[in-house]
Amino acid sequence: MASEKEAALAATPSDSPTIFDKIISKEIPSTVVFEDDKVLAFRDITPQGPVHILLIPKVRDGLTGLSKAEERHIDILGRLLYTAKLVAKQEGLDEGFRIVINDGPQGCQSVYHIHVHLIGGRQMNWPPG
Ligand code: 5GP
Repeated sequence: MASEKEAALAATPSDSPTIFDKIISKEIPSTVVFEDDKVLAFRDITPQGPVHILLIPKVRDGLTGLSKAEERHIDILGRLLYTAKLVAKQEGLDEGFRIVINDGPQGCQSVYHIHVHLIGGRQMNWPPG
């Protein structure tokens, strides 16, 4: 399997449907840890820590990545972060966690449907790779 970096460099930034649409529609199975009418949170298939969850808006509305954010997206962006905090609590990440939003090829984004990575359960390092 290609590394995340290889996958990101091979990905074409676009507004086309992504694998996350199939996860939202349940066409592709995933381990859902939180769901409401706006946000879906599920476990990453390639976890980078004991806990690695992706939080995505159910409706992308042009928000392929953070760099495409418009004023109309402010509510969903806030909701994604607030939900990440709720899920972190649910997962017992009381000692801390990391939130990541990769953007574009240099940011190592491989799926063009905005998503928040919630990673925890181990000591993080800085700077990130
Ligand atoms: P990005 O590199 O775009 O920030 O993150 C995309 C993430 O989606 C990666 O961490 C990758 O492991 C995850 N991912 C890709 N395909 C699937 C899938 O089919 N199921 C799940 N659960 N995660 C996926």
